[in-house]
Amino acid sequence: MMATGTARKLEVRAPWDGSSVRSCTATDAAALDGAIAAARDALADPLPAHEAAAILERCARLLGERAEELAQLIRDEAGKPISLARAEVARSRDTLTFSAHEARRGRGEIVPMDASAAGAGYVATVERVPVGVVAAITPFNFPLNLSCHKLGPAIAAGCSIVHKPASQVPLTALALRELLVESGLPAAWLQLVPGPGRQVGEPLATDLRIAHLSFTGSGDVGWHLAGLATRTRVALELGNSTPVIVRAGIDVGDAARRIAVAAMGYAGQSCISIQRVLVEDAIAGELTEALAAAVDALGVGDPADADTVVGPMISEQDAARARGVVDAAIEAGARLVRGGSVVDGLPNRQTLQPTILDGIAPGMDAFDQEAFAPLLGITRFATDAEAVRLANATRYGLQMGILDADLARALEMAGQLDAGAVTINEVPTFRADQMPYGGTKDSGNTREGPRYAIRELTRERMVLRPRSRGGS
Ligand code: NAP
Repeated sequence: MMATGTARKLEVRAPWDGSSVRSCTATDAAALDGAIAAARDALADPLPAHEAAAILERCARLLGERAEELAQLIRDEAGKPISLARAEVARSRDTLTFSAHEARRGRGEIVPMDASAAGAGYVATVERVPVGVVAAITPFNFPLNLSCHKLGPAIAAGCSIVHKPASQVPLTALALRELLVESGLPAAWLQLVPGPGRQVGEPLATDLRIAHLSFTGSGDVGWHLAGLATRTRVALELGNSTPVIVRAGIDVGDAARRIAVAAMGYAGQSCISIQRVLVEDAIAGELTEALAAAVDALGVGDPADADTVVGPMISEQDAARARGVVDAAIEAGARLVRGGSVVDGLPNRQTLQPTILDGIAPGMDAFDQEAFAPLLGITRFATDAEAVRLANATRYGLQMGILDADLARALEMAGQLDAGAVTINEVPTFRADQMPYGGTKDSGNTREGPRYAIRELTRERMVLRPRSRGGS
């Protein structure tokens, strides 16, 4: 059910030129209550695993058939460059396909009862059963794939869902819901409740009928909700200030080209966009020049253009916030190598020039906080210990990267990095959808990727019987 009621409209505007994409109805309190009740009632008629898997596989196929339409919708409402929007649709198919595999895999075990004197003579089986209704709250930046990362595993686990998408991008969530229903998902199983975070997200997250809150977004909102939803399982996927450690001995030009795209792609609005380049002293000058050249070569502008890598940011306020971070870093001693201003002559004031700062350090927001903007800062190091200390020196720990020709040394360093994942000789702005994905510290408390997410969407139910009286 799409939430209805007397509530006002959510007008979706394209970040590129402010034109209206379409509107949808914002959920009011009565519609939210009805949506949660309907999701709960849906559980009375469980979805068998084979049906869940077939629905997810059919939907993955439909995503393929409607790929271009969906990519254009993501481009329009999220301002994502079309090449990246197409890649997102392709990955969403993977996410649903892996979710279908998890539905079929099933879970459970035999408890080794004769391993203790107390248990000998009994048989016990553990089945994993769905937790109940899942509240899924998603961010603006991957409106399709991050929704699939919540809905796919939940459907596979046998949970019904109430989904609140980010207010900038409800239309992609609506399109996904339509495809899932067309694929055979009972309509009551997935309730879509677009609307402002405070009015819709917060009452949803704290409703006691919700068994599991799965939140992806900023740390401020995520931890706030975790503090409120004290009786609900809460899974948080949050931000990062992503570092890459670059050692002497690598191909500097190649590293610079890859880092430039990883930092600036989609205007740096990915939770694992590279933000901090930690570079060994010996190659710092050479890498800085190569980064400047690589950034100059990136396509900046209209997301509809196939060559665009850096489009508009999601809002003018976000672009202004990012400029404030740059100005403060310069004031504190960093040097502006490239960018720093909004691009003139476009139909918006929210496309920030790809920006490079040399000499960012702990204490500056450009280093400590998530920029979520086309902003990259360079910090030099002399020793391995210093590189590790700098990489770990923020409150985040989602992904980190090491570019080093000496694999043994890189592996040794990877073991000292406090992050959910470390990439070696690949930029940390890397995700394939079967990976366990999630952070340490303020980056979150869970792992997504269908195989990992489903662990939290089910709980154990044990059945025990005496061996002699129950059969075998
Ligand atoms: P956000 O502002 O935190 O919003 C995320 C979601 O929370 C939106 O649906 C938003 O709704 C909702 N929300 C806001 N305030 C709320 C409240 N008081 N109660 C309940 N819900 C509330 O994040 P964003 O700007 O959309 O996304 C960017 C952030 O997401 C970045 O920090 C990024 O690193 C993080 N992210 C993390 C991952 C990951 O997997 N770790 C992936 C992608 C993004 P409204 O839109 O209506 O405000």
